[in-house]
Amino acid sequence: MKLNGKVALVTGGTRGIGYATTLLFCKEGAKVAITGRSERQGRKAIIELKKEGFRDVVFIQGDVSKSVDAKRMIEITVKQFGQLDILVNNAGIWIGGTVETASEADWDKVIDVNLKGTFLCSKFALPYLKKTKGAIVNTASIAGLVADVESIPYCASKGGVVLLTKAMALDHAKEGIRVNCVCPGYVMTPMLEQEMLEEDVPKSGPDREKYLKEIAELHPIGRIGEPEEVAKTVLFLASNDSSFITGTALTVDGGYIAQ
Ligand code: NAD
Repeated sequence: MKLNGKVALVTGGTRGIGYATTLLFCKEGAKVAITGRSERQGRKAIIELKKEGFRDVVFIQGDVSKSVDAKRMIEITVKQFGQLDILVNNAGIWIGGTVETASEADWDKVIDVNLKGTFLCSKFALPYLKKTKGAIVNTASIAGLVADVESIPYCASKGGVVLLTKAMALDHAKEGIRVNCVCPGYVMTPMLEQEMLEEDVPKSGPDREKYLKEIAELHPIGRIGEPEEVAKTVLFLASNDSSFITGTALTVDGGYIAQ
């Protein structure tokens, strides 16, 4: 097992890519704390993980964009499991819009969760990661590497995460801490469902199929990604398999960026 004896915190680990990462980390022997905004969703995730036979899992409710919550999440994880080896900054939100149509509140919300949340959780995790010579894996996006239309706050936040990753990698390399990020293409998760909802795509029927086909065709591989495919890449960057890799932005995008 690749993470035997390791302790990980996965923000936004209650569903989607975060849940798939948590499940894979548990299978690889890690003790995992997951965070999320919804108590109900958190409880559901823990029940599912326990059904799979994993006991060393805990849910911590909180908002990554709030300093007190971010600090508390890290402290509870260390109190519960004794150390911290891996921080996965996965929590994120998507709100669309151009500079003209996105409100100031939309901008603040997306930047606060996606970018400031990554900064805050890393800040409070670093003292513990220094002790274990741990690893941070941030979740950026293809939208942090190339622009998308009507996605201003999201692109700006994820572009920020890519450079935050590289800058942190430089600052903490000598301390034995590696910092990398994943850049997924479109992945079938509740976030994509929400994006479709906002774009008035029906929940079933030919219009939905047409929309999904168009999204799939944006990727040279010709399909939308699965959360488990991103999780495997996060595992690679979090584990010793990537011991000489730091400061990288690894695409998991079916070739999207190669075009
Ligand atoms: P999701 O909406 O399914 O899950 C997001 C998780 O983040 C949830 O657990 C939610 O509770 C948590 N979260 C949101 N705001 C939070 C906050 N303020 N504090 C704490 N937790 C919060 O999303 P997903 O698709 O699994 O996305 C996970 C990450 O991957 C995000 O950073 C997202 O931007 C990124 N990503 C997703 C896609 C995609 O197509 N799904 C593509 C590229 C990147």
